Amino acid sequence: MEADMSIRRPTRSSNFMLIASIVILSVLSCARCQDFGYDGAKGPSHWGEQYNTCTGKHQSPININSLDVKKVNLPPLIMEGFDAHPQQTNLTNNGHTVAVTMKDHFPTISGGPLKGVYQYSQLHFHWGDNDTVGSEDMIDNHIFPMELHVVFFKQDYKNAKNAMKHSDGLTVLAFFYEISQDDNPSYEEFVQLLGNVTSSHKTATFEKPPSLRNLIARDLLHYYTYDGSLTTPPCSEVVTWIDFKEPIMLSHAQIEAFRALEDDEGHPLTHNFRPIQPLGDRVVLYNTDEIVKDVDLTDEIPAEEIDQNSLEHEKDRRPVKGKKPHPDSGSGSIGTSWTVLAMALVFRFYLTGSWK
Ligand SMILES: [Zn+2]
Repeated sequence: MEADMSIRRPTRSSNFMLIASIVILSVLSCARCQDFGYDGAKGPSHWGEQYNTCTGKHQSPININSLDVKKVNLPPLIMEGFDAHPQQTNLTNNGHTVAVTMKDHFPTISGGPLKGVYQYSQLHFHWGDNDTVGSEDMIDNHIFPMELHVVFFKQDYKNAKNAMKHSDGLTVLAFFYEISQDDNPSYEEFVQLLGNVTSSHKTATFEKPPSLRNLIARDLLHYYTYDGSLTTPPCSEVVTWIDFKEPIMLSHAQIEAFRALEDDEGHPLTHNFRPIQPLGDRVVLYNTDEIVKDVDLTDEIPAEEIDQNSLEHEKDRRPVKGKKPHPDSGSGSIGTSWTVLAMALVFRFYLTGSWK
């Protein structure tokens, strides 16, 4: 096409078709383009070049030193809709992770360190090349083979994208995995469906949608909590992290199934965890029943010893770029630039009738 254009002057219509094709291709490629990854030039050490929030002072993940946490008795976490089985639940490979979304079902969480009610958005996973790596947060420098993030947005902010503009916009329930001898039956259909979403942007639907409770640990009393960020660009510092102490057990084969997924470029998605970030001036709280024995979770327990300053601390946030609706979903600055360039060329052609 390039050689042909140099020989004869293109007509208006052929040029228009060319530019239109560029615009369409740019838009299509943008929908699938990947502006961050976990290796090389797109890897975590380069995220800050495109998203300055990724260089903030309250980033996630972190290493939690269990000897350096503040023990507290927070009010009980109130979870609603966790036991219901949604009518439709989808599993999607978005090129960065595999995410579970529910249709017409909105579990909520409140209480604990949270002020207000938070609504389920999606859940997704982070894993590594083998069973010795994979989790994002670490406990006492221990790395788990996989980590589950259940993402909720504050209902006051209507949706996850808008919530990302507020320092208390999101909460993420994090669960670690450990290897068990036997398969976890609660994850049976889940692991089966992974085989249907090997390529990025494939979606599968559960035949028997699991309840949220089916996928998480049982002990929801013992947890660490701290203020941090999304662990993927734009790394917005808007997340109240709640990391549960009890791990979920999966067999080696079940975790291995995640490593068979592919990224946007068709490469194996063998690892998708961000390295730990400095704790800085933050204090990690540990919710325990050590002080209040025989806790009845249905009673309202007053918060004791909660460092309100650390919970309400106005974070040193930089402007959120607002490029993405929720964590782990891509957007396309490269594709967008092409679109703008092509549109400018078309406009110029119609003004001047010339490509020069
Ligand atoms: Zn995550």
